[in-house]
Amino acid sequence: MKKHTSAMNTLVRITHWCLQCDSHHPKHQVSGAPALPGGEVDELICPTCNSYDIEELQEVSDAQ
Ligand SMILES: [Zn+2]
Repeated sequence: MKKHTSAMNTLVRITHWCLQCDSHHPKHQVSGAPALPGGEVDELICPTCNSYDIEELQEVSDAQ
């Protein structure tokens, strides 16, 4: 997995990954889309490329 170190990832927990542009974002940056009327689907949109292909990262405890 490529790792981009340009962002200060230590400030926020990165929980989502864009499959389109291979960037990582905290949840509040990908959940900015308004909910559709009549639908309860929480649309996730990449703030970088506006793609819907957002994958939620699983919490892993590999620090052992
Ligand atoms: Zn993207």
